[in-house]
Amino acid sequence: MIRTRFAPSPTGYLHIGGARTALFSWAFARRHGGTFVLRIEDTDVERSTAASTQAILDAMDWLGLDYDEGPFYQMQRLDRYREVCARLIAEGKAYHCYASKEELDEMREQQRAHGEKPRYDGRWRPENARGRTPPAGVQPIVRFRNPDDGVVTWDDLVKGEITFANTELDDLVIMRADGIPTYNFGVVVDDIDMKMTHVIRGDDHVNNTPRQINIYRALGAEVPRFGHVPMILGEDGERLSKRHGAVSVMQYFDDGYLPEAIDNYFARLGWSHGDDEIFSMKQFVEWFDLAHISRSPAKFNPEKLQWLNAHYIKAADDARLAALAEPFLRKDGCDPSQGPALEKVVGLLKERVNTIAELADAAVYFYRRIEPAEALREQHYVTGLGAAIDALRGRLANIDWNRVAISDAMKAVVAERGLKMPKLAMPLRVMVTGEPQSPSIDAVLEVLGRETTLARMDAERLRIPD
Ligand code: GLU
Repeated sequence: MIRTRFAPSPTGYLHIGGARTALFSWAFARRHGGTFVLRIEDTDVERSTAASTQAILDAMDWLGLDYDEGPFYQMQRLDRYREVCARLIAEGKAYHCYASKEELDEMREQQRAHGEKPRYDGRWRPENARGRTPPAGVQPIVRFRNPDDGVVTWDDLVKGEITFANTELDDLVIMRADGIPTYNFGVVVDDIDMKMTHVIRGDDHVNNTPRQINIYRALGAEVPRFGHVPMILGEDGERLSKRHGAVSVMQYFDDGYLPEAIDNYFARLGWSHGDDEIFSMKQFVEWFDLAHISRSPAKFNPEKLQWLNAHYIKAADDARLAALAEPFLRKDGCDPSQGPALEKVVGLLKERVNTIAELADAAVYFYRRIEPAEALREQHYVTGLGAAIDALRGRLANIDWNRVAISDAMKAVVAERGLKMPKLAMPLRVMVTGEPQSPSIDAVLEVLGRETTLARMDAERLRIPD
């Protein structure tokens, strides 16, 4: 039975790299009918916040990354880490270290001065500390006794075989003086207790893995398979940062993206299935494998994400789009309950927008009159137009209010007056929408309603030369 996990540290929002890792871990479990576990690694007490935890849970929820177990919180498992730590000490595989920070700084300074790589020199290993009295009043930390020689090798599911010499690794701290475990220790105890079979995570953790494998071995536990996913870079090849656009997943919610667009795009960040660009999560889960995760970093392309978002907006149900657009409209000062049904409005506009924010912006004139810009009026309110507008108004006041009848009325007026259709449709559009572009004007008027249409025509009429 496959078991994977996502183990974020709640020290900020869920960023793109984290979400992509979560998505891969989730998809791997789902693909194999396994179990996906969520674990909150909140042992960095200074930086972890309840708000960040909530932000991560919200983002997972939004992206549909459902977990079968958890969330587990490391801070609720301190007794367990202490118990395992005590066992390692009792077995001589870990020991107390009383070295002060100043002392360690000095040690590293001297190593550097001698051209050596700074590393803990084992001064509190039991055989070196024999006969030494621990300094009074110092709460010791606990260090893992890393093997002195040999190598650690694993067959990484993404990167292939990776080997580290133990001489590269020193005796890492596993328990702080305050009894809180370090990341490398907590993660191993948890991954053992939670029976992880596959650890899929960012490749910023590659250097931690040999240390963790040594702890697994010291505990006599089976080592899971590891897959280290390359990071995500900006288009310019630099590490992804705010400069490249939103880095928080929920920022995309705020900006009006659909979760299926984000999921689809993130799935393509470092993984591929032939040339397929557009696919559902169901399809992704069926296809997902670790063999097709790229070994080189993925590049984040905001335009492509936007293109996918536009695709999913077109495909989305109007009632859903209306519900999503409503808060954006309210922020724009519109009350969508006063005016045409928002569902109809979004149905009309969804072909033309990239985000829900754009959808709401495009919908504003249905709920609030937008005063046309002076330049637009000058361009379209040409001499002689007034009579045509009056004729149209007369017809519009009396027809059955539907798109076909509106279009017929317009056609009748242009025929009568010998005008080209755009010479009537464009100024009419400017008069009622305040904008130079809109969906087909007959469709807009149908949704806008007769009363509003005529009122807006009247409001602009005085500016139109007869
Ligand atoms: N808390 C670690 C992080 O957020 C988890 C790493 C792991 O998956 O082991 O980077």
